[in-house]
Amino acid sequence: MSARIAPIECGYDTNGRVVAYYIDAPCPTLIDTGGAAHPEGAIRAALGARGVELAAIGAIINTHGHWDHAGGNAAAVAVSGAGVLIHELGAPFLLDHRQHLDGYYTEAARALEQPAVATALRAGFPTIFGPEMVPNRLLYDGDRMDLGEGVTLQILHVPGHSADSIALWWEAEGVLIAGDVAQGAGARPGGGPLYFDSIAQARASIARLREVPFRTLHTSHPFGRLGSPERRAVYVGDEGRAFLDESLETLDLLEEALRAAFRANPDETDFPTLARAASELLLADPRWSLVPDPLTGVPVGLAPTLYRLWREIES
Ligand SMILES: [Zn+2]
Repeated sequence: MSARIAPIECGYDTNGRVVAYYIDAPCPTLIDTGGAAHPEGAIRAALGARGVELAAIGAIINTHGHWDHAGGNAAAVAVSGAGVLIHELGAPFLLDHRQHLDGYYTEAARALEQPAVATALRAGFPTIFGPEMVPNRLLYDGDRMDLGEGVTLQILHVPGHSADSIALWWEAEGVLIAGDVAQGAGARPGGGPLYFDSIAQARASIARLREVPFRTLHTSHPFGRLGSPERRAVYVGDEGRAFLDESLETLDLLEEALRAAFRANPDETDFPTLARAASELLLADPRWSLVPDPLTGVPVGLAPTLYRLWREIES
């Protein structure tokens, strides 16, 4: 791994972990900031271990606007005054909490007809995201971020997990920071990969990353592999390409299960019924290690991905 990039693990709730990255450049940069409490917690501590003050951060580049990546932006800016950058389609996440609450954050609960779950999610949101704010610069596919002395990050717009997802390609170091674009078997034990936006676009985005000649691949959560309890965020060489391949394979397996559920229920098209039927197949599949959510019967965290797949198969 390049000595100029440092993963910073930011833990949340019982077993969630997001990985922010520090980029050692003349403009010291954070890629993501975790949730609202992480800048003063895990991030300040990790920077301190490298002799870097949080106040010295000059730029924050968000891989996307979801709460566990951008929720700490305001707290980090309050200390550092850093400029905040996000893809054009991610700006609404910073500007307005409703973009989360009425969108990806509660969508699967609503689709499963679980209003109590949606209400509980909404109640805790401002604490994990921090105040609404205005980004300093919007990013577009192909942009190059010059962080000084030849440190240049190229922006790749790679939607699918979210519409605003970007990857960062640091060619001189052979480093590709992939955000949440490719998820293998998912971030949480017992859960599956989370794609909130478009499965078709996720496939195209993962295939695009596959073509980047990276030496190390850095993901923004430690993700799992089929048949393995291990979770990792940094992959060297062909390990990274194998992880991307498996991220495509897991999407194929989920789609197969949902299509089988459609075939087994020819008179049903509603999402809650088909999600539960697909979940039964997936929970019995030994390639996965899925655990059902006690409230919904759908494997933990898999509802958003199944919902997006269902919409794409339905249409
Ligand atoms: Zn996300």
